Amino acid sequence: MEPVPELERTARRAELRRALRTSQDRSGAAPALIDVSKANAALSVRQRRINRLREEEARITQQIASMVSEMRRIERWLEFCLEDAIDRTRNQHSEAWSPSPIMGYRLWWVEDGELCGVKMPWNKRTLAASCLRHGDLGEIPHSDGSCGRLGCGVYAAKTIDPLYRDFNVWSLEDFAIGLVALTGKVVEHDDGYRAAEATVVALGARLEGRVLLTNIPDMLDDVFADPSMIRMGNPVESRQQSLIEIEMYVAEEARRAEQWI
Ligand SMILES: [Zn+2]
Repeated sequence: MEPVPELERTARRAELRRALRTSQDRSGAAPALIDVSKANAALSVRQRRINRLREEEARITQQIASMVSEMRRIERWLEFCLEDAIDRTRNQHSEAWSPSPIMGYRLWWVEDGELCGVKMPWNKRTLAASCLRHGDLGEIPHSDGSCGRLGCGVYAAKTIDPLYRDFNVWSLEDFAIGLVALTGKVVEHDDGYRAAEATVVALGARLEGRVLLTNIPDMLDDVFADPSMIRMGNPVESRQQSLIEIEMYVAEEARRAEQWI
């Protein structure tokens, strides 16, 4: 037998009640309806029970939801505690492992069609550090002094000034100064950092009397792949003027980046 849907059954019961009333009205007789009353009562008892259980069910569902949301908050607190503990341990060794990048400055000069750093040319805007002494063993950059006085890692200065001091920027004809985002393990020194990885986020570059300023990722990739792209920049009167423009641009980009971090 096919199950009769609930709505149809309700309609059928209403129909039967109406038919009974009509029949009683016609005949004037009213037989005792003990069975009907019993069934009615049994139905309403069960309906009330179901209503109570539904209320309880709603309360339980709400309690579960609020407990789940409490757990999410506790989990975030636990993550904070773990990060804080890691930070405090690392700070004892001047290390940072920050989820948001640390900003630094770098200088490259154009040589043989490449943007060259102190140790190697950069052909991409991102460079991952490797350790000449220990390879990729352990956490790079090493901070236990095992790979020399200076240690491995991608270097970056905290401000632009040390670049002028360490490199004779005034005498450089074709060069670039960039803002780099340092990620992964970062070891802090007096004037700068050593990081596991650095990505150039803004660059001011000068080539053959033209200055290109850009923070567009694709364009940065293109410039590092082929520095002759810098020639697309604007002509600049003097070397001093180009330095001022580059420094102002990179400093402004650093201020903008800090707002986001
Ligand atoms: Zn090392």
